[in-house]
Amino acid sequence: MPKVTGYAVQNASDHLRPWSFDRRDPRPHDVAMAITYCGICHSDIHQARNEWTGDSIYPMVPGHEIAGVVTGVGTAVTRFKVGDLVGVGCFVDSCRTCANCKAGFEQYCIETPSLTYNGRERDGVTPTMGGYSTAIVVDEHYVLRMPATLPLDASAPLLCAGITLYSPLRHWKAGPGLRVGIVGLGGLGHMGVKIARAMGADVTVFSHTARKQEEALRLGAHHFHDSSQPDVFTKLAQTFDLVINTVSAAIDWNQYLELVRLDGTMVVVGIPQAPVSMKAQSLLGARRRLAGSAIGSIAETQEMLDFCDHHRLPADIEVISIQQVNEAWKRVLSSDVRYRFVIDMETLKA
Ligand code: NAP
Ligand code: ZN
Ligand code: ZN
Repeated sequence: MPKVTGYAVQNASDHLRPWSFDRRDPRPHDVAMAITYCGICHSDIHQARNEWTGDSIYPMVPGHEIAGVVTGVGTAVTRFKVGDLVGVGCFVDSCRTCANCKAGFEQYCIETPSLTYNGRERDGVTPTMGGYSTAIVVDEHYVLRMPATLPLDASAPLLCAGITLYSPLRHWKAGPGLRVGIVGLGGLGHMGVKIARAMGADVTVFSHTARKQEEALRLGAHHFHDSSQPDVFTKLAQTFDLVINTVSAAIDWNQYLELVRLDGTMVVVGIPQAPVSMKAQSLLGARRRLAGSAIGSIAETQEMLDFCDHHRLPADIEVISIQQVNEAWKRVLSSDVRYRFVIDMETLKA
């Protein structure tokens, strides 16, 4: 494998800058791919800024919405061939032997999945490097087949934003008759709206950006509420079966729990840096459940890609050059993204 070029941060306060590194030579079960597009997830920024665990690994090449073309396969690969359009999401391996891996939930691997970046390969030593780069090598079990009818650039964000909303929507059975609230209309939220609508649910967006109303409705929401208006929460108390909170900041979860009806659920997928405080009454007042959900398994991610292909659900994207990536990160931080930035990796060769 030749040296790969990418953009990396060298520490928690660094800008993304060009950086070269080595990928491993393909092993028998590996797929080598040229990266054509990579989406920008808010998690890229959280991890680059070391906001979650305090032990981010540097240098860090972020990127886990990776779409591209197979350029080579190991001798034992059966599912892919050179020229196939493929994708890689948030993890590139897992232990494969724990109860969760065996049950097909690799994303909840008890031994910790090998994250696509800011993680370690199964040797526990080698740092993983993500998709803000020209090429990647991944075991075929962790490689996805991309939708045939959607543009590749607009499919890349499905690999994290898409699956992170599809999985809880499926698990909590979004469909006709179910009232679903999506909190935050960013990368994750906008895919949540599209997918929940396609599943047949009644979809409401809660946004702190009032000017997103028109777009929320265009994306498929039936209703829109500006969450900065305090009477919203009293007016709509106990009217939702499922509320999915995608917000990247520490907002008041108690307010949103009040929206959930008897025996309903609020699912947290946004990962704020700061802990969020909870009142017991917010749960027991209507026998509510508070749950979390992380991305999805490989099988479920493929199911989601096929679902989005069938229902024609690309992400709404703004394609940028790699040279614009630091500016794009600033815009993500100010909730100014419509609705996912996708980096054109050709520009990395410039
Ligand atoms: P994003 O594009 O930045 O969207 C987040 C949205 O949250 C914003 O567009 C904004 O929507 C709302 N928001 C942001 N700051 C806010 C504030 N201070 N108060 C109220 N609302 C605010 O981010 P994303 O890529 O969708 O990711 C969202 C979160 O999910 C991140 O924390 C990310 O790390 C996490 N994540 C989790 C998983 C998982 O597996 N659970 C997977 C991927 C990402 P409005 O303008 O509409 O209010
Ligand atoms: Zn992500
Ligand atoms: Zn495992």
